[in-house]
Amino acid sequence: MIRECPYNTMLVTGGAGFIGSSFIRNMLAWHPALRVVNLDALTYAGNLENLTSVAANPRYRFVHGDITDVDAVRGAFRDAEMGFGASIEAVVHFAAESHVDRSLMDPALFLRTNVLGTEVLLRVAREAQVRRFIHVSTDEVYGTLGPHEAPFTETTSLAPNSPYAASKAASDLIARVYFETYGFPVCITRCSNNYGPYQFPEKLIPLMIAHALDDKALPVYGDGRNVRDWIYVDDHAAGLAAVLEHGQPGEVYNLGGHAEVENLYVVQTILKALEKPESLITFVADRPGHDRRYAMNTEKAERVLGWKPQVRFDEGIRDTVQWYLRNRVWMHGVHKC
Ligand code: NAD
Repeated sequence: MIRECPYNTMLVTGGAGFIGSSFIRNMLAWHPALRVVNLDALTYAGNLENLTSVAANPRYRFVHGDITDVDAVRGAFRDAEMGFGASIEAVVHFAAESHVDRSLMDPALFLRTNVLGTEVLLRVAREAQVRRFIHVSTDEVYGTLGPHEAPFTETTSLAPNSPYAASKAASDLIARVYFETYGFPVCITRCSNNYGPYQFPEKLIPLMIAHALDDKALPVYGDGRNVRDWIYVDDHAAGLAAVLEHGQPGEVYNLGGHAEVENLYVVQTILKALEKPESLITFVADRPGHDRRYAMNTEKAERVLGWKPQVRFDEGIRDTVQWYLRNRVWMHGVHKC
């Protein structure tokens, strides 16, 4: 349960994407006095339709800009002053290139956005004397686990295995440096795989739903036995809100959904929900460097932040499938991007 937000004016980066848009929609609803500026470059993954429900809200402003462009980032801070008559007090940083498969094709883009962009944002936020900076990261920075290994904790060594994961690990380290060297109040969150409404249909769950709806083959990497921990996107948003409220500068918090399942199970569950045959499943050559298993120990976040994921995987996936069924126009629209 969200109680309070200690900040009145916030900059969110990447708010037109999947998780950032959930965070903005929820935060504006949870906190009636909160004002949000959303800085987003609107890459293929950014979609303002994800924010239609808040677009006319006087407590929300959109700035089109790239986090690697220092003038654009300073412009977003100025926009808050001009539009809201208030300074940005907190930054929640989602903007990133986020798709592992794309990172195999173009690692340089991932380093530019995820590493250099994060440093630009930290630099400008420090200049602006922001009181809290949340750097949104991923369990992928920890690398891979064997079937019987203990879940990742916040002190697990970073051992990324894809250009995406390496770029996120590097951005975590530059965020850490801003705390250690400059005393800048950064918190780092590392979350497991998110699912829910408005996810770009290149990621496993919406991709499989889209293919199943069109009776197309569902491509599953390798033997389908790779394990991920799944969290419903609004639970992630609530975890970030809890970090804003209770997180301590310089700390890392793991967030996860207590739902470790094999990819094949995810795909079978989707097919069952859509009443489609398992014969649509097609195993394809595995992705190079494909991590076998991720699992999160979230004990620290639950103890310190008073947060817990609320949505069980079986319920969340059922609701998610229903959402994509009801929003086929959205799905077809983003497919054309
Ligand atoms: P997404 O790809 O859906 O959205 C990314 C957003 O960032 C888009 O709106 C895009 O336009 C914007 N963006 C990209 N480059 C930009 C730039 N240079 N300047 C400004 N905006 C830019 O991603 P997502 O799945 O919502 O993930 C958001 C964050 O959460 C990422 O940092 C990701 O690493 C992290 N994360 C994602 C997951 C997951 O399962 N999706 C899990 C853990 C952590």
